[in-house]
Amino acid sequence: MTINQAPQALLQSAFGFPAFRPGQQEIVERLINRTNTLCVMPTGFGKSLCYQLPALMADGLTVVVSPLVALMDDQVAGLLANGIDAACIHSGRDRATNVDDWMRVRDGRAKLLYLSPERLMTERMLAQLDRLDPAMFVVDEAHCISKWGASFRPEYESLSALHDRFPNATLAAFTATADMATRQDIAAKLFRGRGDIVVHGFDRPNLRLEVEPKADWRRQLVDFLEPRRNRAGIVYCLSRRLTEEVATFLAERGFRALPYHAGLSPETRRENQETFMAEDGVVMVATIAFGMGIDKPDVRFVFHLNLPASMEAYYQEIGRAGRDGNPAEVQLLYGLSDIRMRRQFIDQDGGAEDHKNREHKRLDSLLAYCETTQCRRVSLLAYFGEQTAPCGNCDICLDPPEVVDGTTEARKLFAAIRETGARFGAGHVIDVLRGTASDKVGQRQHDQLPSFATGKDRGKSYWQGLIRQAVAGGYLWIDIENYGSLKLTDKGQAVDDGAERFFSREIRETKSGRSRRRDP
Ligand code: ADP
Ligand code: ZN
Repeated sequence: MTINQAPQALLQSAFGFPAFRPGQQEIVERLINRTNTLCVMPTGFGKSLCYQLPALMADGLTVVVSPLVALMDDQVAGLLANGIDAACIHSGRDRATNVDDWMRVRDGRAKLLYLSPERLMTERMLAQLDRLDPAMFVVDEAHCISKWGASFRPEYESLSALHDRFPNATLAAFTATADMATRQDIAAKLFRGRGDIVVHGFDRPNLRLEVEPKADWRRQLVDFLEPRRNRAGIVYCLSRRLTEEVATFLAERGFRALPYHAGLSPETRRENQETFMAEDGVVMVATIAFGMGIDKPDVRFVFHLNLPASMEAYYQEIGRAGRDGNPAEVQLLYGLSDIRMRRQFIDQDGGAEDHKNREHKRLDSLLAYCETTQCRRVSLLAYFGEQTAPCGNCDICLDPPEVVDGTTEARKLFAAIRETGARFGAGHVIDVLRGTASDKVGQRQHDQLPSFATGKDRGKSYWQGLIRQAVAGGYLWIDIENYGSLKLTDKGQAVDDGAERFFSREIRETKSGRSRRRDP
């Protein structure tokens, strides 16, 4: 039985929703028009509706492939509750139930059939489906088909045969993965070039995005928290030790701050989590161990004291703010030491060389976001493949940084790195530039170098900012294996040689940049 109603009417009559969410309608229309489509959307966007509604309108069966048995049961129960006939077959149910569901599929009563990939791709099932000539196949968690992604599943690979086996069927695939290479790979495998990729739903317009170079993080944190005293929020830290240090530091300043990390006892974790959920104005100072499955709608801010691992991680972590749709703020602090630490993690993590390279590239994307001169929302969404107009609400839109020609300064910096043999980290290079007579400078006779004191007219925070931008822009790299020494890339070499110019964001010098406190 096919339903002859306009999608809009069916949305209300079958699902009880007054309107499509932005983006849903486009996907629904594509699938009704039988266009193979890979849909990239974040979790919670409402993907089920995107294929369930077209399934009701299709002339024939829709087969939904899902890796999770519990999820299939939920979906089918939900559909049946809405009066939509749906079936599923999996090894977690008794044979009689499976047979009964199959009967409803065979008779054309059930419009949707949920299956695991292993079950679908048995010759027996395929032969039976041949006779039913399904109208559509939906592949959920489609990134599992790609070896590029982190969750490759061998049983998904065989799904690439669907295209040839059921040439009349529409193919729809869904994933929340942001990685471009993985998306391309999914589309190539499932559609063999005959299909599109559509991205929707990554925009979170109620989040105000902000990134700030790390100077004196204690002051920056308190400045941020002070006007938000009675609001709930999360402060993310890289290490367990730091979460405890920061929680104590904030508690001393009268904030209701609690630590959360995997090293705390289960009771303490539960207690702190319950307090955060139940009381107003609690600040959770946490590692990324905190957040999974925590659904507090009125988290008003997320403050990153350290750089996340990637754009994906950043997006996921800031996504815990403002779930209720009301305004929320996110702030990210980052400094050179963060970049160094992240690089170190990737290198120490082991794994194949190309895996490491991909991880470094993912980190590069986040660094580019940090140093961008365009609207944060535009650049965040661009990473996920979505377009938007400047938001008028982020730090860049509200206070656009000037782009300045920093070639002269960059050449001073690069010369100092070159002359010291590219064997030193930012601290020593800055000492040389600023003409600081440190012990190390004396011992190495670096006060004899042509570049010594050539940058003394600028403060330490200026040079730190320039180095950070040069690293983020790919002019310098941090050699983790050699004590984090700064080295020129080919791009940096071209500036050093005078062949290219160096443009940077205007660097606002801060007093606290000269602070001798260590970065967290
Ligand atoms: P996911 O994208 O994670 O699979 P779901 O399909 O489970 O998300 O949908 C998430 C939630 O959004 C569900 O509670 C669903 O009922 C709801 N939802 C989906 N579409 C709409 C809509 N157009 N209007 C209101 N709620 C919707
Ligand atoms: Zn903006």
